[in-house]
Amino acid sequence: MEELARDSPFSYTCHQCSRCCYDKRIQVNPYEVARLAQNKGLSTTELIANYLELGKPYLDNQSDGACVFLTDQGCGVHADRPLVCRIYPLEQRLTGEGRESFHYARPHPETEGMYGQAGTVKDFLMAQGLPPFLEVRDRYVAVVYRLLDILAQDVEDHEDALETAKDVFSDDASIQQALGEWLDMDVVVARHCQAHRLNEPFDLEERLTVYLEVMEDWINHHSIGGNHENQT
Ligand code: SF4
Repeated sequence: MEELARDSPFSYTCHQCSRCCYDKRIQVNPYEVARLAQNKGLSTTELIANYLELGKPYLDNQSDGACVFLTDQGCGVHADRPLVCRIYPLEQRLTGEGRESFHYARPHPETEGMYGQAGTVKDFLMAQGLPPFLEVRDRYVAVVYRLLDILAQDVEDHEDALETAKDVFSDDASIQQALGEWLDMDVVVARHCQAHRLNEPFDLEERLTVYLEVMEDWINHHSIGGNHENQT
């Protein structure tokens, strides 16, 4: 399979056929959930309850296989669509060591999108507004990797990291619950601010920072004082 780097020639023109929005499982992280919630004027709790698969970090689909956010006019959350939608028709792969590569996603056989070489992969990423999504994804995954390091679990692909963490803790109900709740940024931030008598930040970037600190604290607690001692 062809491997691309940021400076590889690449361009893509979307003709809004929307065929790429069918029969997919779109995975979302807490930042993407928060962006989608803002877009819909909902809390993250409401967004998760109404638009995600039950108990899973994936967007729901409509009965015909269309993404839950697809409308007759195209994506109904375009400005806040998740990373995987922005980066399509590419996929980014990262190893646990942070090596990055890009690959062509499998297109719908009748896609009207046009592939070209008028720019570079980097140009495409910038035009799709990907930098903040990639940065947050990397911060989030780094915390999850820390969790897996503590457990001495090797994971080849960052997409598998959180699922692996859930599997490792599958016999611990309280940790399973915590991992599930991590998707719900509003709950995590509100609980933390109430417990520490802090004003809840309004800005999403500040909320994200609080959220990641809570995750770090949780990992430290479970690695130092919890049942799961550092095995390295
Ligand atoms: S979020 Fe938007 S772009 Fe992504 S699959 Fe759903 S409708 Fe398509």
